[in-house]
Amino acid sequence: MLQFILILVALGGLLEVMRREAGAVPAIGVLVITGLVGVLFGTPILGTLLLIAGTLLAIPGVPALRRRLLSPRIFALFDKAAPKVSDTERSALEAGTVSWDGELFSGKPTWQRLLDYRDDGLTEEERTFIDHQCSVAAGMCNGWEIARERADLPEALWDYLKKEGFFGMIIPKQYGGLGFSAKAQSAVLQKLAVNETLMVSVGVPNSLGPGELLLKYGTQAQKDHYLPRLADGREIPCFGLTGPRAGSDATSLPDTGIVCRGMHNGEEVLGLRLNFEKRWITLAPIATVVGLAFRMFDPEHLLGEDTDLGITCALIPRDTEGMEIGRRHHPVGSPFMNGPIVGKDVFIPLDYIIGGPSMAGQGWRMLVECLSVGRCITLPSGASGVGRYAIGWTGGYSRIRRQFNMPVADMEGVQEPLARLTAHAYIAQAAVMQTANLIDHGEKPAVPSAILKSQLTEFQRNILADAMDIHGGRAVTLGPRNYLGLGWSAVPVSITVEGANIMTRNLMIFGQGAIRCHPFVLKELAAKEAQDLRAFDKAFFGHIGLIFGNAARAWLQGLGIGRPSVPFDEVATPYARDVSRLSAAFGLCADAAMISVGSGLKKREMLSARLGDVLSNLYLTSMVLKQWQAGDNVEHEAALLHYSCRTLLFRAEQALVELLDNLPNRALAKSLKFIVMPLGRRWEKPQDSLTRDIAKAVSMDTPLRRKLISDTWDQQGPGQQDNPLARYNALLAEYERAEPIYRAISKAYAKGELPAEALHPEQRLEAALDAGLVSEDDARFMRHYEREVLDMLTVDDFAFDAFASHKDKVVWHDAA
Ligand SMILES: Cc1cc2nc3c(=O)[nH]c(=O)nc-3n(C[C@H](O)[C@H](O)[C@H](O)COP(=O)(O)OP(=O)(O)OC[C@H]3O[C@@H](n4cnc5c(N)ncnc54)[C@H](O)[C@@H]3O)c2cc1C
Repeated sequence: MLQFILILVALGGLLEVMRREAGAVPAIGVLVITGLVGVLFGTPILGTLLLIAGTLLAIPGVPALRRRLLSPRIFALFDKAAPKVSDTERSALEAGTVSWDGELFSGKPTWQRLLDYRDDGLTEEERTFIDHQCSVAAGMCNGWEIARERADLPEALWDYLKKEGFFGMIIPKQYGGLGFSAKAQSAVLQKLAVNETLMVSVGVPNSLGPGELLLKYGTQAQKDHYLPRLADGREIPCFGLTGPRAGSDATSLPDTGIVCRGMHNGEEVLGLRLNFEKRWITLAPIATVVGLAFRMFDPEHLLGEDTDLGITCALIPRDTEGMEIGRRHHPVGSPFMNGPIVGKDVFIPLDYIIGGPSMAGQGWRMLVECLSVGRCITLPSGASGVGRYAIGWTGGYSRIRRQFNMPVADMEGVQEPLARLTAHAYIAQAAVMQTANLIDHGEKPAVPSAILKSQLTEFQRNILADAMDIHGGRAVTLGPRNYLGLGWSAVPVSITVEGANIMTRNLMIFGQGAIRCHPFVLKELAAKEAQDLRAFDKAFFGHIGLIFGNAARAWLQGLGIGRPSVPFDEVATPYARDVSRLSAAFGLCADAAMISVGSGLKKREMLSARLGDVLSNLYLTSMVLKQWQAGDNVEHEAALLHYSCRTLLFRAEQALVELLDNLPNRALAKSLKFIVMPLGRRWEKPQDSLTRDIAKAVSMDTPLRRKLISDTWDQQGPGQQDNPLARYNALLAEYERAEPIYRAISKAYAKGELPAEALHPEQRLEAALDAGLVSEDDARFMRHYEREVLDMLTVDDFAFDAFASHKDKVVWHDAA
């Protein structure tokens, strides 16, 4: 009996020490005390074993001992085995900051840190801009005309965008820009997402381009010259990195800038002779100034000893001799300005380098640093904005579209994709706004930028697929009345640009996150580089403590013991606790994968992607919880929170299971499964009852629907293009009155109280009026309502040869 009690006490004590990461000394204490009790009170064998275990633990556990006996050996092994970090990788690793992503990696996130990033909302000026200027701009867009008739935004819209400063949202007021916060910039882009071409045309100059590079790295003269001109649209920028040979692997670009002497403004100066071929450059066809990335060489050593100076960024005016610019590519679904740029022996002075000659070779670092902010905002905001409109349009359409005598929104088969798209849009809103809030607090979230870019653009694809399915033929038929089809066909653009999604998911999120956010890996690598044994010892044994701590936390919390206290209300608490549990499980599995697969993990992308998926889903859940805790939640929003968190945690667990099912070391994988899921999986997909609740709420005029589609273009202004969202909102506002009339008429028709030949709703209405089943007032209301419904159901048709751009190639079939 005493033996059993001692084993229990020793194990329990050790687990508690591990869970608290209290260090080796208390663990040695547990073993020594239980050992002594065993030896003194009748179980000498067990007591001796415990004392031996305590002594063995003292070697790694007592710093003075281990530094002498263990650390030098481990350091030598690590020195050989650890991957070498290339300069390119180092730039990516050093870019940006670590915030909530680091907490998730630690295995014991401190939620208060996330909540401490207060959200103070938008300024009055930003709010007015979103309400007014964005509505005006959105109201000037006729998607069909832009995509198919002019393949451009209308001139009046370009002028308006320039005049109102849309291209200078990130430029500070002192240079004539709007100086908007990240949240405001995101809100603007979300509203403009009503039209993909508009969103991209405004998003790109405010992100990852000359404006941002100049702000961060430009010389004062460059800032003074360009920033005011970029802010008011006198200059339209583009940025050329990609070429035929260098896409995802952008650092392999073969474009060169050779240091040489040349003529500039009638004077001989030191400069660069550029030869380059770029493609897919957004805004290039109309750009007045080109940001260009190239590899800089100094073969004649005119600047110094180095021959290969590395990737460099310069700003080149459009009319510079030798540059061919102006041709267009034709991106799928959206005719935003995009085209190639070719340069042959283009000579520029050295001070065209962004930041001046001293920034030669710093181009890649500059780009990845900018990526950490821009990539959090532009495309994720586009995705979130698309989500808002998709809820508005699809909720509206599914309510007014009646089949089988009922709105399709009341059919469970339709409710499933409707709720799913709503949840994706809800998660996207939370992720993009809360991450923008982190940026407004000074963070430059590098790993979250990869998470948001890839996850939210995938959401966008799923949201639009669900919206298309629910709209059926209404959205399949292209034409001026179709508000969905062009955006749907443009989705691959968001998926591909700013780090194509397959690469971002497989390579970057975990590959970058593992090193960047891990509490110890970067320190271990730095110690290796510096050959600093003491620093290595501290990092390495801290790392070991973390592994044991995560194992204990994951196992105990998996058993439902020692749940962390979290600062959330009772609705959100179970999810926050489980994010903490899965964070410990993730931390442990990440370490296990890195140790067992080693540097080969870089190539085992399917494993790396699943680890990235766990991190991504935990990050997104955290953002949803943060938004919930901060927000003015409305009726039915709890259903959406449950649905969203369950979906995300289900996905996180799924990724964890798939990781463990595929980890090459099977014994390790089985042990990990026992530790991280001692009672099996915890999360199922959301219940049907949640699906029904959400679908109903977004297809009716409810506070939840109004909240989810807030800050969209939803008012029909005078002289503006047709606004389907405003029209759906108006129909939904009257739906409660229309539905009982529909039902009464259908019932009467089914009972034979109305003429059998009254097949059209309009005919039945008149027959019902004649039969005294509806009042004159209701009949008047319904005539108008039905007219509007029919108009919203109507699709376009065209002349037989309308789609042929070469009329002489049209085959006039006999029937035509
Ligand atoms: C419409 C449009 C606008 C653009 N705008 C600009 C711009 O303004 N400026 C600019 O410089 N560039 C721009 N680009 C280029 C864009 O950034 C690249 O298309 C993108 O980086 C991917 O390169 P790629 O298309 O050549 O794909 P590739 O690099 O050829 O990749 C092919 C596939 O392989 C995957 N892949 C590649 N490497 C890996 C890996 N290691 N692991 C897993 N999967 C991998 C990719 O995810 C992709 O699915 C634009 C592109 C388009 C289409």
